[in-house]
Amino acid sequence: MPTPRYDAVIIGSGITGGWAAKELTEKGLNTLILEAGRPITPEKDYVEHVPVWELRYRDWDDRKERQATQPIQRECYYACDEFSNKFFVKDSDNPYTSEPGKPFSWIKGRQVGGKSITWGRQSYRWSDLDFEANAKEGIAIDWPIRYADIAPWYDYVEEFAGISGQAEGLPQLPDGKFLPPMEMTCVEQDFRDALFQQPEFHTAGGDEDRQAHRAPVQRCAQPDFRSVVAPRHRSAGNRRPDQKSLGIPGPNRFCLRCDARIHAHPAEFRDAGIS
Ligand SMILES: Cc1cc2nc3c(=O)[nH]c(=O)nc-3n(C[C@H](O)[C@H](O)[C@H](O)COP(=O)(O)OP(=O)(O)OC[C@H]3O[C@@H](n4cnc5c(N)ncnc54)[C@H](O)[C@@H]3O)c2cc1C
Repeated sequence: MPTPRYDAVIIGSGITGGWAAKELTEKGLNTLILEAGRPITPEKDYVEHVPVWELRYRDWDDRKERQATQPIQRECYYACDEFSNKFFVKDSDNPYTSEPGKPFSWIKGRQVGGKSITWGRQSYRWSDLDFEANAKEGIAIDWPIRYADIAPWYDYVEEFAGISGQAEGLPQLPDGKFLPPMEMTCVEQDFRDALFQQPEFHTAGGDEDRQAHRAPVQRCAQPDFRSVVAPRHRSAGNRRPDQKSLGIPGPNRFCLRCDARIHAHPAEFRDAGIS
């Protein structure tokens, strides 16, 4: 058998490698991905909808075990838990050092898909506050790119991925190419309104859209400040249509555990003729 030849070899199948493979194969290159981690079997491995009563510790986790084997990964406390710790490496098997006084939490997912399996789907653009922060603070080297260099590529990815969001006109959080925003829950609306009443928040600018949404903007914008509740930029999957376009009645719904769109009851899909 002839040795296969490839035009491109990609190391790692995370979002970076996966996207590179998408681009290269679309352009006709024979592409190989090498992945160090295990394969994922979605039917068996995905856990976001496993009910807590099916877990041994009912979501309280075996904390002694977690602390012993994954003390760094566990810093991602909301994700490296009883459900999902299998998607994080064992620190005990992956030791590393960092310079004194310069701690570094190296969160690693070693499986096909890398950390795309665990990411939270928050899809924010960085602004120049982010691109310039390390240079201003004298950490490492000045990055050779700024927001203007990467903005068209944000457009490109967002249009493919389908990012639901609300334009806010915030300088620290550039707007993107958004699908319609997800509705806020009544608790979120209440929280936003309560925040808006606080004297340290105000509505910046005269932009009508922002006024309409009463977006709270912190007066003292810190370099990595993200607006507290207003922007809701999330991946909605690869341009998945919303319920209305599927003919499913009622407002769009989101799963409380994973926030994914269109967790309609199977009967609603059936009634809408979707299998
Ligand atoms: C819990 C969690 C939540 C997150 N939420 C968000 C979010 O909401 N929004 C956001 O923007 N970002 C989020 N992130 C960050 C985001 O997930 C990562 O920045 C992104 O997934 C990194 O992608 P990557 O392809 O660069 O690297 P990785 O996903 O780490 O992929 C690297 C891949 O390379 C493989 N690999 C490593 N070494 C080798 C080797 N020698 N040979 C072969 N393969 C190798 C690994 O197994 C892995 O599959 C989150 C991260 C975590 C952990």
